[in-house]
Amino acid sequence: MASDDSKVRQAVAAWQQLLGADRVSAAPQGLDGFGDSTLAQAVPPAGVIRARSRDEVVEVVRVASEFGVPLYPISRGKNWGYGDACPVGPGQFVLDLSQMNRIVEVDPELAYAVVEPGVSQGQLHDHLEEQGYPLWNSCTGSSPDASVLGNLLERGFGMTAYSDHAAHACGMEVVLADGTILETGLGNYPNARSRHLYRWGLGPNLDGLFSQSNLGVVVRAGIWLMARPDAFTTFRLTMDRDADLEDAIDRLRRLRLEGTLSSPVFIANAFRSLAQMRPYPWAETGGATPLPRELAESMLRDTRVPGLTGRWNAIGSLHGTRRGMKAAARDTKAALRGLGRVYFTAPSTLDRFQRWGRLVSAIRPKRGREIAGMVEGARPGLDVFRGVPSHQGLGISRWRLRRKVEGRCEDPTAEGCGLYWVAPVCPAKGSEVLRCVKIIEENMLTRSFEPLIRIAAANDRVVFITTLLAFDREDAAEAARAGDCHRELVAKLLDEGYPPYRAGVTEMDLLDPNGSTHWEVVSTLKQALDPGAIFAPGRYEPRTAAGFRTVGGASSGR
Ligand SMILES: Cc1cc2nc3c(=O)[nH]c(=O)nc-3n(C[C@H](O)[C@H](O)[C@H](O)COP(=O)(O)OP(=O)(O)OC[C@H]3O[C@@H](n4cnc5c(N)ncnc54)[C@H](O)[C@@H]3O)c2cc1C
Repeated sequence: MASDDSKVRQAVAAWQQLLGADRVSAAPQGLDGFGDSTLAQAVPPAGVIRARSRDEVVEVVRVASEFGVPLYPISRGKNWGYGDACPVGPGQFVLDLSQMNRIVEVDPELAYAVVEPGVSQGQLHDHLEEQGYPLWNSCTGSSPDASVLGNLLERGFGMTAYSDHAAHACGMEVVLADGTILETGLGNYPNARSRHLYRWGLGPNLDGLFSQSNLGVVVRAGIWLMARPDAFTTFRLTMDRDADLEDAIDRLRRLRLEGTLSSPVFIANAFRSLAQMRPYPWAETGGATPLPRELAESMLRDTRVPGLTGRWNAIGSLHGTRRGMKAAARDTKAALRGLGRVYFTAPSTLDRFQRWGRLVSAIRPKRGREIAGMVEGARPGLDVFRGVPSHQGLGISRWRLRRKVEGRCEDPTAEGCGLYWVAPVCPAKGSEVLRCVKIIEENMLTRSFEPLIRIAAANDRVVFITTLLAFDREDAAEAARAGDCHRELVAKLLDEGYPPYRAGVTEMDLLDPNGSTHWEVVSTLKQALDPGAIFAPGRYEPRTAAGFRTVGGASSGR
């Protein structure tokens, strides 16, 4: 929807009157980094509005409707590799909800929390720790600064048994386009005592309308937390042959279906494992791309990091009572026999190493420091499986940067990292996974990008083949190739029967290749709930998104 300039000016004036000039800014000044992107091409927002309460959101939405100026709501805007905080099309004002960051409630007995959009996964974890609640929030491999609510609205996934975040959300409060407030689930009964406990409510279940959509602004949601188990361990398995991967997928599926495994298992290829440890070996390759697979595998072997030296490297976790976990560990080890060595690492294993390092350092300080460094490096990778978020996983964003960047990665957009995710949903069958992986590998390697693949076996019947296409945004030619490669691969995977589990802003127009009834019904819902197209036009709205592309909406985001 195009808004003429005078309407935009009037809307900005009205928003400024409501919130104060310091919380409303219009492009090109005042975007405060919100136009920065990890994508090759992104549409910068028309401005930024910062709301601090539900009532402010209602008023902001009313002004937007009155003047016909669209809003793009975000929780914390860390949607890196999918569009960051940038909208799908031009002329949209980011509605930044990061200052609405109250943890409204935690019920330690019924194991749930109610959070506002600005609550980060780090904040929630710290709060649970500080209050001494024996509860875990399922965090993602993204930053501690990423949100809980925005992630679940994108149907993101985390590392614990509650990995499927949208499936563990219960009871939302939503501001609709006319400014009314909808409580989903049982919340429409003001005195309902189970509003954050029973997902289905009565009648049609409306929660699903507000994830991966543009039908409302979610200002609060209940999320279920996992009771902290008595015992917990991670396990790793390295495999050197694709045939072993095929076998492993089938065996892991059986372990999930029989109930031995309830947390996700992640299987990274050699490229992804190497990228977790270091940037692209520009010197060793004389600047040539892509990195030959054999070289990646031999470099990985040379690191001699236990559990990370194979063509395929799996990590998962087990939990339960002490006795239950021991039995699950025994069954898992037996089920994976013959595929490679299975290593178990519990928090107590790292504590033992740490104590040992201290003893060693008294005699051999250098070796002692090495051991301490090893333990320090290994701990975040283990802790993330019990709800402790860290910045460690973001380091992979730097894989193809030519410029050396020191320190930990906290914000890929600020460092010029180029990122696109391709994350097809694939049946949890070894043969299917190999087929899908082959399509990804061929497509990306031909375009000189390494497929940084991590298969997320996070559901009983499907896996997500989450693949990062990393590039250097400062290299314009490489960035253009990355954008093309990404779109071609998404389209190819759709064609081959592997749609993505979630979509980035530059692929929304690809989502309806067959003109399906599904997307027609979605349009009908949009017409009914947001006839003025106030919320995030083009987001999970393939036809509108296609319109933006043909009018040349995409432009550089930096
Ligand atoms: C190295 C790396 C690792 C990653 N690992 C993971 C991972 O393990 N799992 C995972 O899921 N993701 C992962 N990500 C992707 C991403 O960083 C996370 O999904 C992150 O949580 C998204 O950012 P956010 O939480 O700030 O959500 P936002 O960016 O705020 O929200 C995402 C989108 O949802 C919509 N939205 C947000 N809030 C609202 C609202 N209140 N009302 C209506 N619509 C709204 C908006 O369209 C917004 O663009 C990773 C990214 C990188 C770079």
